[in-house]
Amino acid sequence: MRIEDKLNEECAVFGVSLTTDEAVGLTYNGLLSLQHRGQEGAGIAVVDDNNILYHKDVGLVSEVFCGGEFKNLSKGRIAVGHTRYSTTGNNKRENVGPFITEYLTGRIATAHNGNITNALDLRHQLKENGLYFHATSDSEVVSSLIAYCITKEQNTVLGVVKAADFLQGAFSLVIASGDNKLIAVRDPNGFRPLCIGQNGIGYAIASESCALEACGFEFIRDVLPGEIIVVENGSLTHQGVRLGKKDDGHGLCIFEYVYFARPDSVIDGLSIYEARHNMGTVLAEEYPVEADIVCGVPDSGLEAASGYSAQSGIPLVSGFVKNRYIGRSFIYPTQSQRDSAVRLKLNPLTTNIQGKRIVLVDDSIVRGTTSEKIVRSLKNAGAKEVHVRISSPPFRHTCHYGTDIDSEENLIANHMDINEIRHKIGADSLGYISIEGLKRACGKCVLPFCTSCFTGHGESMPRKKDIFE
Ligand code: SF4
Repeated sequence: MRIEDKLNEECAVFGVSLTTDEAVGLTYNGLLSLQHRGQEGAGIAVVDDNNILYHKDVGLVSEVFCGGEFKNLSKGRIAVGHTRYSTTGNNKRENVGPFITEYLTGRIATAHNGNITNALDLRHQLKENGLYFHATSDSEVVSSLIAYCITKEQNTVLGVVKAADFLQGAFSLVIASGDNKLIAVRDPNGFRPLCIGQNGIGYAIASESCALEACGFEFIRDVLPGEIIVVENGSLTHQGVRLGKKDDGHGLCIFEYVYFARPDSVIDGLSIYEARHNMGTVLAEEYPVEADIVCGVPDSGLEAASGYSAQSGIPLVSGFVKNRYIGRSFIYPTQSQRDSAVRLKLNPLTTNIQGKRIVLVDDSIVRGTTSEKIVRSLKNAGAKEVHVRISSPPFRHTCHYGTDIDSEENLIANHMDINEIRHKIGADSLGYISIEGLKRACGKCVLPFCTSCFTGHGESMPRKKDIFE
C-alpha cells in the first residue's frame, strides 16, 4: 500500500524535433518538469541516423539518468521521453516507456499517457497473428499496433492514423520514428492533455505546458482531441483532426484540474492555478462556515484554500509543514508504518492552529483513512474545530481512462453518506464541491469534461474492432 489513499497519476509524455543535437538533454529536462505525473519509471529514446537508441528503468528521472546513460544517447535531433505510473502492467523495467518496436523497414519509439480500454482484445489479435510481447503494459500494444499498421500502409503517418483508429479509451501519444518524424496524437475525447511548443531550434510536444516553459519553448496551443501532428526536421508538416468521433459523455479528465496537473500549467484554455482557486471560491459559496483560519492540505489543496479564504474573508494560514523528501510512491507494508508515514510527511504547525476553528481544504477523499489522520493530527495539536471542504465531488466509481482510483468497495463515498463520512474522519462539518460547481470553476476550459468517476455516466464498454479484416 502507498503512503496516502490518494489517486495516482497516469504518466507523462514529452518529445522534441530540433535542428540541433540537443534532443536528449531537453527531453531529460522536460521529464524532470513532468515528474509529478509518474514516479515509478522513466525513459528516453532518441533517433540517431535511422536507428533508435534508448535507456529506461524503474525509478525517478534523476535516478534513471544519474550517470553514463547519457553517453549512449548523447546525439540526436528527435527524442521522446516518458515517466510512468503503472495503471496496467506491473512495475518492471519492461513496462516503462517509451516502447521501441521494430518492423520490417524501421523502428518507432512510443510514449503513451492514458489507458486503452480495448488493449486486451488488440493484444490477443496481434498475438494470434504472430506478434510477440515482452511486457504487460497497454502501451506496448499501442506501439506494436502502430508498427504493424505502418508496415501495412507502407507510410509512417498513414500507419499511425490507421492504428489510432483501432484504439479505444484514453491516449495522448508522442512517437519518434526512425525516418525522422515526431508525431503527436490525442484521442477523440481528449481525456489526457497534450500541447505543442516552439522555439528557434524546433518543436516540443508535452503532457503539460509547464514542461514547455521549463525547456525554453513557447506554448503554441493544445493538440486538439482527435488531432495528429507531425514534425519533421524541426518543421510542422501535418496537423489537423484525423480521428473518429468522440464518445458521448466524455471529454478532458476534470481531475487534471483538481489534482494531477501542476498549478503553473495551462490545459485547454484554463490555468490549473486559476481552476483550483475558483474551486475554493465555489466551495466557500456552497459551504460557508464560521471559522478563524483557512488551511490547505499541501500541495493540491493550497490553491483551493486561497480561493476559499478570498471568498469568505477568513485568513489563509499555513497549517502544515510538508516533508518534501518522502515520495508519493513510497511503500509502507504495515499499518503502523502507514500511520507514522502520514505524520512523517505532514506535520501540523501547532503555533498557527492551536485554539483555532479551522477550515481545512483538500482535493479529494478516497478511502478516508488519510483525511481521518490529518483531522486527528490537527485536533491533537490543539485545533478547536476542523471543518473539511473538498474540491472534488465524492468518488463513487472507478476510472477506465488511466487514473488509478481504488476499487469501488474501497471508496468511502460508495458506501457512506456525507454525514457518516464526516463522523468517520472526525470532522466538525464536511462539504464536497458539487459537480455543477466544479464545472463552473473550470468554465474557461474549451473542452467538455469526463466526470464518470463522480456520476457513473459515460462509462463505455470497449467495442470489438478487427485489425486483420
Ligand atoms: S473517470 Fe474520473 S479520473 Fe477517470 S478520466 Fe474521467 S474524470 Fe478523470
